[in-house]
Amino acid sequence: MTRYASPGQPGSAVSFAQRYDHFIGGEYVKPVKGEYFDNITPVTGERFTEIARGTHEDVERALDAAEAAAPAWGRTSPAERAAILNGIADRMEAELTRLAVAETWDNGKPIREPVIADIPLAIDQFRYFAAAIRTQEGTISQLDDNTAAYHFNEPLGVVAQIVPWNVPLFLTSWKLAPALAAGNAVVLKPAEQTPASIHVWLDLVADLLPPGVLNVVNGFGPEAGKPLASSKRIRKVSFTGGTETGRDILSYTSANIVPTTLELGGKNPNIFFADVAAEKDAFYDKALEGFTMFTLVEGEACQCPSRALIQSSIYDQFLGDAKQRTESVKLGHPLDDETMVGALVSEEQYRKVLSYIEQGKKEGAKTLAGGGAADLGGELSGGFYVTPTLFEGDHSMSIFQQELFGPIVCATSFSDFDDAIRLANSTEYALGAGVWTRDAGTAYRAGRAIQAGTVFTNCYHQYTAHSAIGGYGQSGMGRENHKMALNDYQQTKNLLVSYSPDAL
Ligand code: NAD
Repeated sequence: MTRYASPGQPGSAVSFAQRYDHFIGGEYVKPVKGEYFDNITPVTGERFTEIARGTHEDVERALDAAEAAAPAWGRTSPAERAAILNGIADRMEAELTRLAVAETWDNGKPIREPVIADIPLAIDQFRYFAAAIRTQEGTISQLDDNTAAYHFNEPLGVVAQIVPWNVPLFLTSWKLAPALAAGNAVVLKPAEQTPASIHVWLDLVADLLPPGVLNVVNGFGPEAGKPLASSKRIRKVSFTGGTETGRDILSYTSANIVPTTLELGGKNPNIFFADVAAEKDAFYDKALEGFTMFTLVEGEACQCPSRALIQSSIYDQFLGDAKQRTESVKLGHPLDDETMVGALVSEEQYRKVLSYIEQGKKEGAKTLAGGGAADLGGELSGGFYVTPTLFEGDHSMSIFQQELFGPIVCATSFSDFDDAIRLANSTEYALGAGVWTRDAGTAYRAGRAIQAGTVFTNCYHQYTAHSAIGGYGQSGMGRENHKMALNDYQQTKNLLVSYSPDAL
């Protein structure tokens, strides 16, 4: 086992600044009101830096800088923008450990996640959209012998991006890479729980972009996020976070007719058909691993497979093995490379998740694994740790309906295919789903019948740059990743020209 050194300790890959200001117009700028708030690491519960507390005035300054930069940036060639995005990717790759330790310290996640997944996949987002913009082409429609409609892809101008705290650098890359590739200037607001790793990233790459193309205003939702999302000066909002906040965002943007992408909550079913247990082989093992994916990101993932639906004929056997597998998921120091579950993001989230566990117990759910807080001792005593929790219950319980956003899975049985689909589609959310079966026909029919933006089949939690992510229903609108995301950051100019001699 390797333990990465904590920030500030000898040998650490990262040392945070004493404080982080806003980043506006290519430089760090103090908040207009002069206020800062503490940034706490959930690993130990201690304050490690302070962050500028943004307000309406700071947002206006960032919009000034973005508006000034947008026209020239929008006129750069795709090749120039692609070179910059590739430069960002190269810098990130060279400092992967620094970014990973910063992310773990800010968010509490186990270091293996940013090392193996979050940061490499974020790097790939920049490379992917660098390639996508270079290969993008407009179209020409020939209307008659003398008339043509040229369809150009034009940037929108200044766009607002509001990111959550669960996978800060990765989700920021989902938004920034297509927006910048398409030629937009950005004002980004990090989540108040996890702004620090984004500033460590900015320190690495900001000089590659012309001043004002990327601006970061820190702060809280109502104070900094709301004035940004409700500004008449923006041409788009992309938001990831809770469904309730998503509704608020939509109310601001609808008033100004600003296109809006919303990545919201999920209560995602993970369905295990009986044939999974036909043999206790590598596939069975993979399915059990898929079951434990609810612990990834401490369950603080919109795509968390938080409902396990298991066919009744294999229910006892599969759930017994799944319980064992859940108990073997290693909770520990987030900077140990063997740790699989680290700390929840904040004390508020920790208390919320513990209250959901109590709610589940009160509702009569049976606790098969975990079920409470974990005190890991030593310097971690002040951190926010919860044991991976496996509940057995039924769909009428609120824990089967609500997004819990913690390392909790709720298991129940289904009788047949139709019953599985009925249960899968029985929450207000429709973001992701998992299907596990050896039968291609069952996989196809289930995948098509489940109401969700993504149906992972015989796998889970795969987020590559070229596969689309987004929700149906209350889980949001629009898609991120895949080159189709470029469409959301561009508008079409139809230049309709008559070359008719009569018109000249
Ligand atoms: P949130 O929706 O409140 O916050 C997400 C981002 O939106 C943050 O940057 C926040 O500052 C900002 N924000 C909050 N209120 C705003 C407003 N009125 N206007 C503009 N911006 C605003 O999320 P949360 O409170 O941190 O978590 C609440 C729930 O959201 C979680 O329990 C979970 O269910 C869900 N969530 C989902 C995701 C996801 O990836 N889909 C990520 C984080 C949280």
